Amino acid sequence: MQLGLSSEDLAFQAAARDLIGRTFPKGDPFDGGRAHEQRWHAAMAQLGWEINKWPVAFGGPGWSATQHFIWERETTAAGLPAQVGGMGMGMLAPILFAYGTPEQQARFLPDIRANRVRWCQGYSEPEAGSDLAALRTRAALDGDHYVIDGEKIWTSGAHQADWMFCLTRTSQEGKKQEGITFLLIDMRSPGVTVHPIVSIDGRHMFNRVTFEGVRTPAANRVGREGEGWTVAKGLLTHERTGQAYVSLSLSLLARLREAAASVPGANGRRLLDDPGFAGRLSLAAIELEALAMTELRTLSEVAMGEAPGAQSSMLKLKGTEIVQRMTEFFVECAGPYAAPWFPEVFGPPETVGPDWAQPEMVRYLEGRAASIAGGSDEIQRNIIAKHVLRL
Ligand SMILES: Cc1cc2nc3c(=O)[nH]c(=O)nc-3n(C[C@H](O)[C@H](O)[C@H](O)COP(=O)(O)OP(=O)(O)OC[C@H]3O[C@@H](n4cnc5c(N)ncnc54)[C@H](O)[C@@H]3O)c2cc1C
Repeated sequence: MQLGLSSEDLAFQAAARDLIGRTFPKGDPFDGGRAHEQRWHAAMAQLGWEINKWPVAFGGPGWSATQHFIWERETTAAGLPAQVGGMGMGMLAPILFAYGTPEQQARFLPDIRANRVRWCQGYSEPEAGSDLAALRTRAALDGDHYVIDGEKIWTSGAHQADWMFCLTRTSQEGKKQEGITFLLIDMRSPGVTVHPIVSIDGRHMFNRVTFEGVRTPAANRVGREGEGWTVAKGLLTHERTGQAYVSLSLSLLARLREAAASVPGANGRRLLDDPGFAGRLSLAAIELEALAMTELRTLSEVAMGEAPGAQSSMLKLKGTEIVQRMTEFFVECAGPYAAPWFPEVFGPPETVGPDWAQPEMVRYLEGRAASIAGGSDEIQRNIIAKHVLRL
């Protein structure tokens, strides 16, 4: 069995490293800000790699599963995102490939590709989260426009978004899944109001969004009226496949080993050498390797044109569990220095303890949300029980 990389894959790896090194040389690392994001996007775009997950028919580079794997590892090791463009790039584009009209594809995909327009996801409502099909935000056809009234909640990034892809209720008849329609809404439309929600980690990411008589052209409906549930379900599997967090966990594991080597444990040992800690860390590392293999298997099926299906629930569930465990290890390592640190609320903190420990409590708290976002753990277990185990 050949487990090493082929010469083509090694050449690809070298090209990836070259692009990363040229764009962010040592001494000028990626800082996550908008300017650096644009620099990274432009660098990838020179090679057509900014749309690395798009099908060849829509201009994608047609990477193999192994190339995707290499790209994920190389970009994560350099602290870079594997793609930029947020929910438009990763979530809406696959829907437009499958359900968009040629006009919708021509109108929206170029802006997503150029990272010119930010999208947010308007699914959840105060009474419709896990039971998403219970959503009530109403859209009524009035001539060639839909008129929308209602509210969405937990809308990540709505305060920065230009557009929303949104699930609306267009009929009360029949099964509740059948009366749902998928609409694209310009966030600057009169009647759209964004209300900020600050979360426990001190950050403003969430919002509540209200709609009062908001009009969107019927031409912005993706799929047929009443077909929104099918459209949304397809999108969710793409969202969940992207929530295995393998690269993130791998980079956290590497940093964690460094941190644990710098912290004293019991009996004069380094924490990293403490048998109890080291055993638990190894177990997490083994589970992470198994998850990485499962992700690779799924990516390879997706590359061959298959939909990720219920496997995406497994990836999400296990990936969430492991990334949360990493954040717990960090808090354990940091000990008292992991005290809550809310710079957005309290201003810059006085530094106490090692620098690496500073953001760990925020990361830990932020990590809790992963069990809920994109469908809670319990819902993923229900999906696995039904569609994989056939219970
Ligand atoms: C970080 C983050 C980002 C998010 N971003 C967005 C976004 O951009 N757009 C958007 O639309 N939404 C977003 N959400 C919302 C998210 O999709 C919902 O929070 C999620 O679907 C759960 O819904 P809920 O909060 O209403 O909880 P509920 O559905 O009220 O669930 C409460 C509890 O009951 C359990 N439960 C519910 N039903 C069942 C069942 N049938 N069987 C077993 N247990 C059950 C749940 O697991 C949970 O523990 C985001 C959430 C988070 C945490």
